[in-house]
Amino acid sequence: MLTHKFKLSIFLTTILLCASCQNDGLDQEDLNQEEQSLSKEATATLDYLIEKGYSKEDLIPNFKDEAFIHDDYVIPFALKGNMDKNPSKKGSVQEKNQWNYVGNGVYYSNSRNVSYYVERNYPRDLEYVLSWAAYHWSRSSANINIRRTYTRSSADILVGSWYNSNEVAWARALLPDGRGNVGAWMRVNTAKSHPGDESTMALLIHELGHNLGYLHSDQNDGGQIPGTNGPSYHQRNNCGSVMKSSVYTCNWRFSSTPGWSRDDRTAITWAYGN
Ligand SMILES: [Zn+2]
Repeated sequence: MLTHKFKLSIFLTTILLCASCQNDGLDQEDLNQEEQSLSKEATATLDYLIEKGYSKEDLIPNFKDEAFIHDDYVIPFALKGNMDKNPSKKGSVQEKNQWNYVGNGVYYSNSRNVSYYVERNYPRDLEYVLSWAAYHWSRSSANINIRRTYTRSSADILVGSWYNSNEVAWARALLPDGRGNVGAWMRVNTAKSHPGDESTMALLIHELGHNLGYLHSDQNDGGQIPGTNGPSYHQRNNCGSVMKSSVYTCNWRFSSTPGWSRDDRTAITWAYGN
């Protein structure tokens, strides 16, 4: 009897040890899997973007920011899920106020009081150009108003920086997340030279444009704003839009006279009204 019990205990111990070994293996595999594969939410957004004309290779998942990087703009993993959860009702003010470009709309009722907060890691010498960039957007339409706030918790856009000398992006901005608000952050890459002149102002106007939901005028991804000249025109014209993927200073000056092109104005009016 004793022998039998002893045998049984050895048998059980072996099973427990094996189970434990196997669990360790599975846990490790799960962890690796988690690092490499997308959540259901992110996969739904990826499928949606591909359906809208994006190439999978151009959408790099960033698990820290929970978003896909596409050049200098970033698309939240949560986009599709948020859009599904926040459909605008037919005929509602919300529907009238929402513009859809890749379905990535900002309610213009939510763009009238946009505030940005300057993080501690944002270069102090670039605050001046940032305020000019916000000024030009604020003057572009009665439905856009971007002002600085000193209260971080109430800010719509957090403006900061990162450092990566291996990256081509000079700055990066988050697109709207599908709940009707502007994109929640904008960052400059401090590994690049930012002179703080009009060229930097044009860059920051471009990035705030992404926060407002605009994509690149010279790329096919995500469709085209009605009434504008389209990607091939913008590939040939460096000053055709501040939303070209390479930003040129063109007519932008520290002056109350804005440097918007014809297509920029068309895009602003189409999405936000005059
Ligand atoms: Zn861009």
